[in-house]
Amino acid sequence: MNNLEYDVAIVGAGPAGAAAALSLPSELRIAHIDSGFPNHAKLCGGLLTEEAMASVRIITGVTELPSDVACEPNYSVLRSVDFDNHVTTTMNVGYLNICRSSFDRWLLSLVSRDEYKTLWGVKARSIKKNGRHFEINCHREGERFTILTRFIIDCSGWASLSRKSPSLGCAPRRFALQIALPYSKETEYQAFFGKEYTDWFGWTIPKNDKLLVGIGFRRNDELTSVGGSIMPKEDLAINVNEEANENDGSSFGTNDNRETDRDNPWLPGAFIAFLSRLREAGYVPRIDLPDPRDRMGVKTFFGRNSLYGCPITALTSIKQINFGREGLFLAGEAAGLCSPSSGDGISFALASGIALGQVFRRMLIKHRLKDRARARDYRLYRDLLASEIRELRFNIQKAKMLANPKLRNAAFKFLSWHNGKPVERL
Ligand SMILES: Cc1cc2nc3c(=O)[nH]c(=O)nc-3n(C[C@H](O)[C@H](O)[C@H](O)COP(=O)(O)OP(=O)(O)OC[C@H]3O[C@@H](n4cnc5c(N)ncnc54)[C@H](O)[C@@H]3O)c2cc1C
Repeated sequence: MNNLEYDVAIVGAGPAGAAAALSLPSELRIAHIDSGFPNHAKLCGGLLTEEAMASVRIITGVTELPSDVACEPNYSVLRSVDFDNHVTTTMNVGYLNICRSSFDRWLLSLVSRDEYKTLWGVKARSIKKNGRHFEINCHREGERFTILTRFIIDCSGWASLSRKSPSLGCAPRRFALQIALPYSKETEYQAFFGKEYTDWFGWTIPKNDKLLVGIGFRRNDELTSVGGSIMPKEDLAINVNEEANENDGSSFGTNDNRETDRDNPWLPGAFIAFLSRLREAGYVPRIDLPDPRDRMGVKTFFGRNSLYGCPITALTSIKQINFGREGLFLAGEAAGLCSPSSGDGISFALASGIALGQVFRRMLIKHRLKDRARARDYRLYRDLLASEIRELRFNIQKAKMLANPKLRNAAFKFLSWHNGKPVERL
């Protein structure tokens, strides 16, 4: 394959990429590239917010998700458990429980355009501006080729292709780990706070016959005191993937993403300590857990229970959001659009893909894409996402507050007064 020419190349086929492909004007010739394949599972809690569902309605026209996308059970409340202050409270949430990989696959299946080419298993490795075009250097099974395009929409998530360039810079990231335990008991969506385990939070999400249990950590260099156990990284090579493959029985293997390994190390001992606390309190089944210091035991346990991990964007300032420049547009988590308080990223990814539809429509009307993208196009993009940016600004403050046990306690009390739901002692 050589020197293909397109109007737009969308890199990444997650919610941002799918929303862009569904929203861009029909006259554009589009290449849609993803390093994974449609059947790859995505590491995600799979809870869809009301805002995300509103965007789904806009791009698909449907009001109800297909049965293979929706999961059971569905609850209208989230229980928060605060181990620091020994309290628990509930709040109303309008989450829809979904199977994340089916959701992404379903969205893409709805893309029906004339000049639209999907390139699966193709990794975009670098971008070069060459006059009026971009050259995307791609890699597929040892084969290298270049894609020529007028515009790029980078929807490559936390791994963001374009933000590797020092001039765009990467948004700060946490590292998230999640396992799926067999579980049949009725349980709520739950969020757990405890500074002994994490500076962020952990969660349990029932999903059909499984219970997803996860936790987010700050970077390892700041994490050595968390959980009271320290494991040498090299002994715990985990399959750290942007797309965890659900067909892969073993979670351990070689990590082909060196950048991830170097930038986002992790501490499985802290996760074991967290699991052990949940087990004692009855929030997860009575599973046998290894001692957090037993390296082989930890490795075997996580191997059996399919541990997956990947970074998640964690904004600390709104300035870390980047929408691109000179014909390169960033959307979804690649732009930094992900809530630092809840980890909700699907709603922002969908909203940004939809907004780019409007930006390109205006560019077509104004200059039939003959011109390069101008500052006013990026301004329009930002303006269309004004309410999402406002929400993220609020979420940055919320994340800081939740990380502080005293402020969190006050927030829980306020929430319970506001919702009329009492804070209970643990
Ligand atoms: C553990 C965990 C739980 C989460 N739970 C939730 C939740 O419950 N609800 C929620 O709303 N959000 C959740 N999120 C966040 C959410 O998953 C992301 O914010 C969201 O997927 C971002 O969508 P995106 O389209 O921007 O990127 P992604 O969904 O990450 O898609 C990026 C795509 O780009 C591809 N790609 C990457 N690099 C390249 C490259 N160089 N070349 C070609 N292709 C490339 C990848 O294969 C991938 O398909 C969670 C995240 C984590 C880590």
